[in-house]
Amino acid sequence: MQLGNFIGGAFVPPRSGAYLDDINPSTGKVIAQIPDSDERDVDDAVQAAKRAFPAWSRTPASERSKLLLKLADLIEQNLDVLARVEAADSGKPLSLAKMLDIPRAVANFRFFATAILHASSDAHITDAAAINYTLRQPLGVVGLISPWNLPLYLLSWKIAPAIAAGNTCVAKPSEMTPLTANRLAELSLEAGIPPGVINIVHGLGGKAGRALTTHDDVAAISFTGGTVTGAAVAANAAPRFKKLSLELGGKNPTLVFADADLDQAIPTSLRAAFWNQGEICLCGSRVFVEQPVYDAFVEAFAAGAKKLKIEEDFGALISAAHRDKVMGYIELAKQEGGTVVAGGSRVDRQGYFVEPTVITGLGPDCRVLQEEIFGPVVTITPFRDEAEAVRFANATRYGLSASVWTRDLSRAHRVAAAIDSGTVWINCWLLRDLRVPFGGMKESGVGREGGFDSLEFFTEAKNVCVKL
Ligand code: NAP
Repeated sequence: MQLGNFIGGAFVPPRSGAYLDDINPSTGKVIAQIPDSDERDVDDAVQAAKRAFPAWSRTPASERSKLLLKLADLIEQNLDVLARVEAADSGKPLSLAKMLDIPRAVANFRFFATAILHASSDAHITDAAAINYTLRQPLGVVGLISPWNLPLYLLSWKIAPAIAAGNTCVAKPSEMTPLTANRLAELSLEAGIPPGVINIVHGLGGKAGRALTTHDDVAAISFTGGTVTGAAVAANAAPRFKKLSLELGGKNPTLVFADADLDQAIPTSLRAAFWNQGEICLCGSRVFVEQPVYDAFVEAFAAGAKKLKIEEDFGALISAAHRDKVMGYIELAKQEGGTVVAGGSRVDRQGYFVEPTVITGLGPDCRVLQEEIFGPVVTITPFRDEAEAVRFANATRYGLSASVWTRDLSRAHRVAAAIDSGTVWINCWLLRDLRVPFGGMKESGVGREGGFDSLEFFTEAKNVCVKL
């Protein structure tokens, strides 16, 4: 299968004529070829988006809403095939793609399709002298860059609010997982979304992605990916005064207090550690357990990790290079004095599989607890008291999410307030409501997405002052 870029409602070859291999991580085999796009393709896509903008931005919200709802229905009708494609492209278990990735893409389109029908704007009465009201207007052409771990899920999390708000967009999915984006393009035509409203350019981050972040006609960049890439995106976009939303990496803590309901905390922490083979930015990769229940927790957690089944509970890592990076961190953990109590090896079969790995004996300052591994590797460390738990939780440069397990309501609120992260889950993990602000503190990001935060990001507020 050879993919084209989706520009102005048509699938077109890259200007260079060059293609990149797309590999199935579960087999190591090439399953498609995708355009190796450069700045010429990005410019073609931006021009198509510019042409579509005036008409789309003036299309009534109720009409835009209908088209997005139609697209959501089509994604839902194609759930099985999209899930199969997503699993083959990313290595994730098919069951997870069916249960999480594709339903969430449907939900994203439905959510923003209806959110725009409920948006309101502020008015300020200035004594009896004037009325100020806020006009929220779309920005124009926006650039959307997404990673490989939740391909359609995260791409639709950006496309849906961007176009719902009246913008047109150029999206660049990760070159490692381009297939569902390609299918989304086809479905958008079937839904009747006008040509040029959604454009998709495939290719490398350093080339096609960079061209998007530096293009003068792109008004905003919404980026989800690693913290180092986020810094490069910011460095390119900031001097051009683009609006910027950065959703970046994480090294999220799971805090388990001695009074927690361990029957809930253990299976949920296992899921938090190993879902999508640990390749979710919100995964809880640093587990801290209060001393009185530490031994029992480690024993049950390690036993649970050993029971996880390949292809059912965990899949292949995205690439050979990423598998080698993850294995490198397991070696580093041993050098730093850690003990591997579950997993620790590659799986002896085709594809890039690593066993769910549990490591004990490492303190919060070790590199393994400081750097984002983004794989099936979790550490468990004991803590003495609440103050130490909070100190350990905050001892990284990241601040994306945290999960806290306790039956003490006052402590739950105290700890939630003290942890430096964009989201704190109490006695749960990844319980998502699309209306809430989502994003990271510290080096996990800048800005918030979700609900009206997304719609605010994708619009410009203009104050209109009317003298009475
Ligand atoms: P990545 O390497 O940073 O890539 C993300 C996207 O940026 C890809 O489409 C990539 O293209 C592109 N890119 C790379 N260099 C670029 C540049 N100079 N200019 C513009 N675009 C560029 O991240 P990843 O490895 O795909 O994803 C894993 C990371 O994403 C982890 O750190 C994870 O925590 C983070 N993440 C964060 C969230 C969140 O909501 N906070 C959600 C999911 C994932 P190529 O793929 O072609 O390089």
